[in-house]
Amino acid sequence: MAGEPQDDCLFCKIVAGHIPATIVRETDTTVAFQDINPQAPTHVLVIPKVHHRDIAALAAAEPAITADLLREAGEVAAQEKLESYRVVFNTGSGAGQTVWHAHAHVLGGRGLQWPPG
Ligand code: 5GP
Ligand code: ZN
Repeated sequence: MAGEPQDDCLFCKIVAGHIPATIVRETDTTVAFQDINPQAPTHVLVIPKVHHRDIAALAAAEPAITADLLREAGEVAAQEKLESYRVVFNTGSGAGQTVWHAHAHVLGGRGLQWPPG
């Protein structure tokens, strides 16, 4: 069922503590942890504790938790003392999504090109 933990989902396993992660922030509804393959000096993933396949599904089902996620992305940037940063939601395999549990990438600590390519 939408929102329920999925046995085969990597990020549900991180939420449950079954797979280790370097957690930098946690709230009642979200977890933020270091990306295992960082693309910038700061690369933190912010995820909802509930399982939805992507940000659009999360936003449709859980607007309040979506707001929590966006606020936490800003809190991560503040905690990491980033003046400039980027929040990315890769959505769909053609855009690079590989984990099917909604997540924000918070990237910073280096110059970020625009357009991203
Ligand atoms: P996506 O490609 O779906 O937008 O982002 C998934 C992210 O999860 C990637 O940046 C990838 O490096 C990260 N990732 C994949 N497996 C793990 C893991 O086991 N632990 C952590 N901390 N990050 C992971
Ligand atoms: Zn999940």
